[in-house]
Amino acid sequence: MPVKSIMSSTAPFLTSRHVAVIGAGATGLVAARELRREGHRVVVFERGDQVGGTWVYTPEVESDPVGLDPNRSVVHSSLYDSLRTNLPRESMGFRDYPFRKREEKGRDSRRFPGHREVLMYLRDFAAHFEIEELMRFGTEVVFAGLDEGGKWRVTSALRNSDPVDEIYDAVIVCNGHYVRPRLPQIPGINAWPGKQLHSHNYRRPEPYQNKVVVLIGGSSSAVDISRDIATVAKEVHIAVRSLEEDKQGKVPGHENMWLHSMIDSVHEDGTVVFQDGNAVAAANFIIHCTGYNYDFPFLETNGEVTVDDNCVGPLYKHVFPPALAPWLSFVGLPWKILPFPMFELQSKWIAGILSNRIALPSKEEMVEDIEAFYSSLEATGTPKRYTHNMALFQWDYNDWIADQCGLPYFEEWRKQMYMATSKNRALRPESYRDEWEDDDLVLQAQQDFANYLI
Ligand code: FAD
Repeated sequence: MPVKSIMSSTAPFLTSRHVAVIGAGATGLVAARELRREGHRVVVFERGDQVGGTWVYTPEVESDPVGLDPNRSVVHSSLYDSLRTNLPRESMGFRDYPFRKREEKGRDSRRFPGHREVLMYLRDFAAHFEIEELMRFGTEVVFAGLDEGGKWRVTSALRNSDPVDEIYDAVIVCNGHYVRPRLPQIPGINAWPGKQLHSHNYRRPEPYQNKVVVLIGGSSSAVDISRDIATVAKEVHIAVRSLEEDKQGKVPGHENMWLHSMIDSVHEDGTVVFQDGNAVAAANFIIHCTGYNYDFPFLETNGEVTVDDNCVGPLYKHVFPPALAPWLSFVGLPWKILPFPMFELQSKWIAGILSNRIALPSKEEMVEDIEAFYSSLEATGTPKRYTHNMALFQWDYNDWIADQCGLPYFEEWRKQMYMATSKNRALRPESYRDEWEDDDLVLQAQQDFANYLI
């Protein structure tokens, strides 16, 4: 049943809450800004030394390159050195703090800039809205769970110090979900003599000089990393789960790159066999560009929120667990989306609900809505692990949240630009970041940005 909600019709009495935000990546920053705008008292816990989360590049990699060892040293960022955004800056930025071109020295003014520029943009955002004063850097949340009277106990540890307990009205989880690698099952992998890593631990191409490399995956990371490595490797083979037959074979424009169907098995002599019957003898590396698992090691919800086949749930609209709403919420779980503007909307919604300005439906209505959503996924044969994969549904979802908050919908140019980029990326995987045909949309975006005096 569609759940109607609901700006309060009378002048609302705004209640200020004490809120803990866990993480200072793009989600934590925008959540903190919205919470403070709404009058809440906010503390942002960040285990790193700076804002930016995933966009803080490091050449460091983890001690276990596939990320299976639970005792491995964890590195947060999954960026590779050559990474440029896969979205144009106009559509990627927060709505009221556009990701404008900056021509100053040291800035990257390209439309699809390198990762350092995104980090600078997020730092600018934090500085502009004075969010750093809410931050506790170098402070890891090791526990967040329900305490007496419906409050939340947050236990955090500043480096080399004893953990400290504090009580909050609400907790917002913004810890990122590109950290814990997901690996496919490959028959024979334990006896295969080559080296494996997950894309989480890929940084630069030099170690692959003259090597035979097999990559698994069809995402942006697989496309980028394969091109990066092909500049130095002897051969690059890409195994993709659902590849159309006419795409198999040599990749146009590359002498040393081939596309295959998924890996069937690997063998003690180093051979990698694909489901299409082709094989690569003596491959040196397998790089798993196979995505990530959600992980909330600090969160104790007495079983109210679980991660089952990478579905975090039950969550109303991917944000609130009905049993704990609105005191526990998650920002940024959906994927295949326009991330920053969606994080901004989710944060406004949460902030407005916590202050009583916006109403949430009853617990029963939320549960009913979630059940209807899960049934619709089941009816279309969608595996659980795609629960938070939004793709084309993102626009309706954003509009729905905008309605809850009484905000305007996303600009038409932003949606069209997202779709034009997706098309261009599929058509020109090598050059979409430097060749495009949507200059008219860029112009519309720039006209809109003139409304924001930053
Ligand atoms: P993160 O940026 O991961 O931040 C989470 C923060 O939480 C981190 O700072 C971490 O240190 C902190 N943290 C975690 N656990 C704790 C704890 N227990 N206590 C305290 N702090 C904690 N998006 C785009 O819009 N455009 C792109 O081009 C793009 N490219 C991408 C390329 C790659 C390779 C990846 C991995 C992602 C890309 N994304 C892109 C998506 C990107 O991840 C999101 O846009 C966004 O930056 C995610 O922000 P976040 O705040 O959810 O998570």
